[in-house]
Amino acid sequence: MTPREEGPRPLLNRRLAAFGTTIFAEMSALAVRTESINLGQGFPDTDGPEEIREAAVRALRDGRGNQYPPGPGVPELRSAITDHQQGRYGLAYDPDTEVLVTAGATEAIAASLLALVEPGDEVIALEPYYDSYAACIAMAGGTRVPVTLRPSPSSGTYTLDLDELRDAVTDRTRLILLNTPHNPTGTVLSRDELAVIAELAVERDLLVITDEVYEHLVFEGEHVPIASFPGMRERTVSISSAGKTFSFTGWKVGWLTGSPELVTAVRSAKQFLTYVASGPFQYAIAEALRLPDTYFDGLRDDLRAKRDLLSTGLAAAGFEVYRPSGTYFVTTDIRPLGESDGFAFCRALPERCGVVAIPNAVFYDHREQGAPFVRFAFCKREPILQEAVTRLKALAP
Ligand code: PMP
Ligand code: GLN
Repeated sequence: MTPREEGPRPLLNRRLAAFGTTIFAEMSALAVRTESINLGQGFPDTDGPEEIREAAVRALRDGRGNQYPPGPGVPELRSAITDHQQGRYGLAYDPDTEVLVTAGATEAIAASLLALVEPGDEVIALEPYYDSYAACIAMAGGTRVPVTLRPSPSSGTYTLDLDELRDAVTDRTRLILLNTPHNPTGTVLSRDELAVIAELAVERDLLVITDEVYEHLVFEGEHVPIASFPGMRERTVSISSAGKTFSFTGWKVGWLTGSPELVTAVRSAKQFLTYVASGPFQYAIAEALRLPDTYFDGLRDDLRAKRDLLSTGLAAAGFEVYRPSGTYFVTTDIRPLGESDGFAFCRALPERCGVVAIPNAVFYDHREQGAPFVRFAFCKREPILQEAVTRLKALAP
């Protein structure tokens, strides 16, 4: 067939053709249109600490960061990041050569994949995976190899089958893209699981990109960075972000740490994406990272109580609840409600009871595996969650 006979060439290229509007934009628009409670897109409905907002205002007024900040990030933030990694996890990084500040974790993920993946390389990602992973692997020309976290209704958690992960590695595997605490399942990989993944990475000479944006939102267990395992520091890009930890998702301050070689490689891609971003906010987040432990503990305890409130309410409404050990999302199974299609369920939910949620199927290659699962965010004020729970009770069979 000649190109003419195939009809006009689509505008969107083949790499991105499969990726329409993100589910988060679609569902947030639906929430606004139907005036529903938005438990879909994960953003807090209260802003982060007042003193950190004031720090951003001060930076703006004092003319700090109003012009292009340095490519790797402002020195104050880079040293706050390395002090954080050292203080929390005993991981030593050089603020001059082993840190890169990015436009949110989103850019850190994109730049890492664009820098480290050759067309044809395989990238293993834990399924369900955060939606930008698939798009960025595609933009890099890589091939996505999902390894599925499986729900275990008896324990109410999701688990990773380490043998399945091992079997997924081939001669073409370039890297493993990890996410712990995991969005959307709330799984926190244990020290033992991470040790096995680290051994596998060393044995098969793989790189690891680890998305740890929910590192401070762990309710059970502990967050252990995979970079801390033997042989991992030099092969791991660790990513985090101020969005989740400080409730400033709009500021888009993210960062990554890794060996000088990895950081230099990722910077090569990043410099042509945004070059730099979020100037004055970088100074404010430098202060945020130095907040006392009470801040981080308070955030976690507040969200744990909200997790419990929403999980209990969802169970009372008839959902099967997968109680998250971390993140601010709770995944549910809608089959006990007599439903099996999460997409249809989420599209109808605003009309039925004025609540918006996210169908987990969008996070799967094996869509059928995710079909009956739906995610709710609990990073909202308590009265809002109470009201959502009341509304959801209308679904009880
Ligand atoms: N990774 C995961 C797992 C996420 O849930 C999100 C969403 N906030 C991001 C990355 C993106 O983070 P940021 O807003 O800092 O770009
Ligand atoms: N990370 C947020 C979530 O998982 C959404 C961020 C976005 O809209 N890109 O809900």
